[in-house]
Amino acid sequence: MARWKAGLVLRLRVIAKLGGKCVVPGCGITDPRLLQVNHRDGNGGRDFKRNDIEAARQFYRALVNGTRSTDDLDLRCANHNLLYEYERGARFCDPDIARQILDGWDRGDRPER
Ligand SMILES: [Zn+2]
Repeated sequence: MARWKAGLVLRLRVIAKLGGKCVVPGCGITDPRLLQVNHRDGNGGRDFKRNDIEAARQFYRALVNGTRSTDDLDLRCANHNLLYEYERGARFCDPDIARQILDGWDRGDRPER
């Protein structure tokens, strides 16, 4: 099996193991292209660094094999995973301030580049 396809199958097995859909009530997205493994404690860096594909594969293999618990994980669509990061404070954007800036732009108050 081609390496990319083996990686896809592994990812799909992880998604299936974690329930196959976004856990946020009322969402329920099941499209595997949009689903991401969420570390509920926000400590994903413990398992692998961004762009470290080999470490990510090892993490997925451990989940599929059951040598790594899934207790601290859940499955979220990309939007809900991103929102979770904002709500945990891992990313910052005050929605009221963002709204004020956008309203200013709507009034023609655009900043110079
Ligand atoms: Zn969702």
